[in-house]
Parts: sequence; C-alpha cells; structure tokens
Amino acid sequence: MADGRARRGGVPVEEVTAAAYEIPTDQPEGDGTLTWSSTILVVVRARAGGAEGIGWTYDGQSAATAVREKLAGVVTGLDVLDVPAANDAMVRACRNLGRPGIAACAISAVDTALWDLKARLLDLPLAGLLGRAREDVPIYGSGGFTTYDDDATRHQVERWVGEWSLPRVKIKIGESWGRRERRDLDRVALVRELVGDDVEVFVDANGAYSRKQAIRMGQAMADDWSVTWFEEPVSSDDLDGLREVRDQCRADVAAGEYGYSPQYFVPMLSAVDCVQADVTRCGGVTGWLAVAHLAAAANLQVSGHCAPNLHASVAVAAANLRHLEYFHDHVRIEDNLFDGTLSPVGGALCPDLHRPGHGMAFKEADAEAYRVA
Ligand SMILES: [Mg+2]
Repeated sequence: MADGRARRGGVPVEEVTAAAYEIPTDQPEGDGTLTWSSTILVVVRARAGGAEGIGWTYDGQSAATAVREKLAGVVTGLDVLDVPAANDAMVRACRNLGRPGIAACAISAVDTALWDLKARLLDLPLAGLLGRAREDVPIYGSGGFTTYDDDATRHQVERWVGEWSLPRVKIKIGESWGRRERRDLDRVALVRELVGDDVEVFVDANGAYSRKQAIRMGQAMADDWSVTWFEEPVSSDDLDGLREVRDQCRADVAAGEYGYSPQYFVPMLSAVDCVQADVTRCGGVTGWLAVAHLAAAANLQVSGHCAPNLHASVAVAAANLRHLEYFHDHVRIEDNLFDGTLSPVGGALCPDLHRPGHGMAFKEADAEAYRVA
C-alpha cells in the first residue's frame, strides 16, 4: 500500500463516475433558517473486478464536478479492498481545494461507493462486512417544515405514527427570530395533540434562536409538551451556546449535521447530549464510523442524519447509536429513484442481509428527467 496502488491480489478501482439530479420537492420546504423547492442528488458509481458500487450525497451539483475532476483520478488504480487508504488519499488530494462542504460531500459519496463495491465483490451485505452491533436502526419521522400549514403537518404526522407506527417525530421550528415564537409553540402543541402521550416529540431549530430565546423556548416545550430532543437550538458554530442550552433545558441538545470531517466533532463532544453525523457529508462510511467511535469514547450516542437508506447499513455497526433521521425529502427521493429501499418495521429500519452491499440499485432511466450534470 506504500505507493497507494493495488497490491498483489488486490482489486484495482477501474472507473469512478458521477452525475447530479435536481428533484423538486412535493411542496415548498423550509426550516428556521432556509427554504428550498428542490434537492440535488449526486450519485457516484465505482467499478472494479466486474462489479459496481454506488454512493450518493445531497449537495450542489459541484460535488459531481469534484468527483470527476479531482477524486476519480485519485482513486482509480487503488485497491478497493483498502477503502481507508482511498479515503485518506482523497482527503489529502482536497487539501488546497478546501475540505469542508462540497469536497467532503464528494469524498463521502466516493467512499460509500467503494465500501458498497467491496461488499459486492465479497458477496457480503455491507452491514455484515462492517460487522453489526445491533440488528436494526431505530428511526424518527422528520419533516414538519415551517412552510407547512396545519393540514400538511397533520397529514404527515398521521402517516408517521399511523401508517408506519413510528414512536418518534420531529418538526422544524425557529422561523421567527422572536416575532412569531407563538407559531412555533402552537405547532409543537398541534403535534403533541396528534401523537398522544406515547410518542416522543422532537424539534429542530436549525440554529435560528439566540441563546436566551432557545433556553426560554426549550423550557416551555419540555414543560408543556414533553419535548425530549432539541436540535441546533442555536448555531452549531456557537459551542458555548449549545452547552448553555444543554445545561439549562431538560431536552437533549443535539448537533453535528454540518460536520464534514471527524475532527469537527471533537470540540462539540463537550457541548451536546448526542452528536449527529451524516454519512453523505462527514467522509462516508469511513468518516461516519470514526465519528461514532469518537462519540463512544466521550460516552455519547450518535444519531444518523438523513439519507436513511444509506445510513441503515452503517448505523447497525454502532453500539452507541441512538437513532436515525427518516427525513421526508430523502425518503421520497430514495424510494422513487432506487430499487431495494427499506421500509420501516416496528419503528426501525433493518438492512436486508440477503443483498450484497447496501442492497440498492439506482434507477437511472427514471432519474434521467432530473439530470443537471
Ligand atoms: Mg437538523
């Protein structure tokens, strides 16, 4: 491995390709700090030894360019059986490009494609190749956008707890910077009324609140509607603020979805109750497991952020997993554009151990209408 090329008996990566697809949302979506009407999916394919692995990320179409122009050349010829070496080579190659953001998403998609490819070459499920610490992955329904009216929220929540029997649901709050706090509280009250007492209610402010506003809202939501998860109450860049909210609110404070490397999480470990890591951003399977191990070493749990069908095969490898975000936008895209996606059973996803790799195939013909790069 010293020269980075495939060793004797290894399987050199022959080709890495990327394509980007822009998929409109089913209705306008927004949270406390952003609104959007489409989502870009970047799909990476890696080929070696007569097999193909697939990875993806949700990012700008520039991530596809980064794969084509920077990473494909770095990874081609490396041994697909040694994915950590390929991950390390990609990280080094992006030094001057700037690793957080687009480059990290591109690295994540390639890393995931390589792990999938390795598992397929070995005819193993990815969960089996990584080794399982648990049989399934508890999930929570996530959506509840600030752009929804009460009917849209009701329809979605009833699907989560009625059709899928999910025991945890999360809505977005924080749209108001103080002027419309009442609407945030009314929407939380609506969700509590809809789900009854036996379902956990989570909220995500996406960093919209100030510190004191977050504490005031967090205390009210815990007291009145038993909210148990308060995600990004203040900006994830404000670690002192996260720590302050954590110490003054009963709900668990969580953050980490903008972590583009395992190193990002080290200072955050002392500021939150649970870290969130995203396999499509933090360095793929290699990076996600590194974050899970960091959290374990700090006696914390890790929660998977979005892209539920990719996370399922990886999250079963973490003994300190809390749960996985079953995010409306990504569930819809993955169910429409991939074969082999998973369905919730008993409030959890269970990777299909009878299929090699992560078990999914991209429906390229169906996606073609959305292709942008
Ligand atoms: Mg979030």
